[in-house]
Amino acid sequence: MLDLTRALTFRREANFIDGQWVGASGSRTMEVTNPATGDIIGTIPVAGKAETEAAIAAAHKAFPAWAGLLAQERATKLNAMAQLIRDNVEALAELLTLEQGKPLAEARGEVLSGAAYVQWFAEEARRVYGDVIPSPFPGRRLLVTKEPVGVVGAITPWNFPFSMLARKVGAALAAGCTVVAKPSEFTPYSGLAWGVLAEKAGIPAGVVNIVTGDAPAIGEAMTGSDVVRKITFTGSTRVGKLLAEASARTMKRFSMELGGNAPFIVFDDADLDAAVEGAMMAKYRNSGQTCICTNRFYVQQGIYEAFAAKLAEKVKTLKVGSGFEAGSLQGPLINDAALAKVETLVGDATAKGGKVVAGGKLHALGGTFYEPTLITGGRQDMRIAREEVFGPVAVLFPFETEAQAIEMANATEFGLAAYFYSKDLARAFRVSAALKYGMVGINAGIITTEVAPFGGVKDSGVGREGSKYGLDDYLDVKYLSIGGL
Ligand code: ADP
Repeated sequence: MLDLTRALTFRREANFIDGQWVGASGSRTMEVTNPATGDIIGTIPVAGKAETEAAIAAAHKAFPAWAGLLAQERATKLNAMAQLIRDNVEALAELLTLEQGKPLAEARGEVLSGAAYVQWFAEEARRVYGDVIPSPFPGRRLLVTKEPVGVVGAITPWNFPFSMLARKVGAALAAGCTVVAKPSEFTPYSGLAWGVLAEKAGIPAGVVNIVTGDAPAIGEAMTGSDVVRKITFTGSTRVGKLLAEASARTMKRFSMELGGNAPFIVFDDADLDAAVEGAMMAKYRNSGQTCICTNRFYVQQGIYEAFAAKLAEKVKTLKVGSGFEAGSLQGPLINDAALAKVETLVGDATAKGGKVVAGGKLHALGGTFYEPTLITGGRQDMRIAREEVFGPVAVLFPFETEAQAIEMANATEFGLAAYFYSKDLARAFRVSAALKYGMVGINAGIITTEVAPFGGVKDSGVGREGSKYGLDDYLDVKYLSIGGL
C-alpha cells in the first residue's frame, strides 16, 4: 500500500492569497485525480475574477517592500527556498507523481531542477548590473539602471507542474517582482506547494499568491489588470496567443513558452549508439509529454535500417506502469483527451502507410497507459509531421540529403527545440545555423539546464527562461540623464 503521508504534508486544498490559505467565494471546489488510477486525490478551490483580483491587490501591496530589499536579502530568502526544496525532495516528488503520473525518479529530477532554478536566480539577483554611457553632452552623466517590472501573472501547464513555476517564481522574486500564479487544474498541488515553500522560507505575505480554478476567468483578470505588468505563460500556442492579445490592451510585457514540434535528425555519419540513446531521452521522457520532446525523426538512408532496428529494441524494453512502481519508465498520459489525440495521430500515420514496429495501441494496463510506440515509413503528409503528438510515439521519416532534412525540419510554424546527430564538425555548424529553432541539441538528447536560455522562436513563443538572460524579462530598463555636473 502506497504511503502518502509525506506527500500530503505539501498538499493544500486552498488558494494562497496575501499569506493566507483561503477557499473560493461560495466555497466552490473541483476534484483532482490521479491519472494512474483515476482516484480522486483531493479538491481545489474554483477561483475566478474576484479571487484573482484579491491576489493581484495583495501582490501590488507587497511589491514596494519586496522590490526595496537589497538584492542580497532577496537572494538569501530564495536560497532558503532552494534548500527547503532539496530537504523535501521526496515529499514533493511523491506529490508530483501522484497528480501527474511521471515515474518517481523523473519527479525527483524535476523537483531538484526546480531547486536549481531558484538557486540560480538567487545568484543572478546580485548581478543585475546597469551601464554608464559615455556622454555626448558636456557636464552630463548618462546612467542605465534596471528595475523590477512590478506584479507578474504566471500561468503554467501540467507536464512540469513544479519546475515550470520555479523558472517563473524564482526569476520574478529575484528581480524584485511579486507574483500571482495559476497552476494547471490537472496538477494544482505541485503549484500550490510553492505557497507552502514561500511561507516556510519566510517570504513576506503577498509576494507569492496562488489561485486555482476557472482558467479563462483567472487569465482575464490578470490580463485585464493595469497593475499586472507582465504575463509569463507556458502552455499551448492557442492560449498563449489569446493571452498575448489580451495583454496588448494594457501594453504588458509577456514571455511565452508555447508548443513545439521538435525534429531529430540522424545523419549517416552519426554515432549510432549515441543517437539511439539521445532519441530515447528526447522522445520518451515524461511519456513524450514535454514541449521539447522529439515529434519527428528524420533519418538518413544509409543509417535508417540500423537506427530503426536499434531504437525498436530499446523501445520494447521500456517498462510501463504507475510512477510509484519500481523500475517504471513510462507513466500514464495525463487524461483521456491526451490519449485520444495519440490514438488519432497513430491511426492517421498507419492509414498513410506507416508501419508499427513497436507498441501502437493502448497498454494492457488500460486507463490512459499507452504502449511506447515506434512507427517507420513516415511521410510529410501525415498529421504527426505537423502536429505535436505529446505522447510516447516516435515516427521515422527517411531522407537522402542534408538540404532535404533541413527543409523538412523547418517546415513547421513551431521553433522550440531541434536535435541532430553527426560527427562532421562542418556539418554541425552548417545545420545548427540553418535550423530555425531557439534551442539545438547537437549529439545531445537532453538540453534543459538552469544555466542555459530556454525558449523558442516563431509560434513557439518569445522570451527566455533560465541563464543570464532569464532575468531580463522581469526588468525594465531606466535611463537617467544627469545634468549640471
Ligand atoms: P495544455 O494543452 O498543455 O494543457 P493549455 O494552454 O490548455 O495547455 O494550458 C496551460 C495552462 O493555461 C493551464 O494552466 C490552463 O489552465 C491555462 N489556460 C487554459 N485556457 C486558458 C485561458 N483561456 N486563459 C488563461 N489560462 C488558460
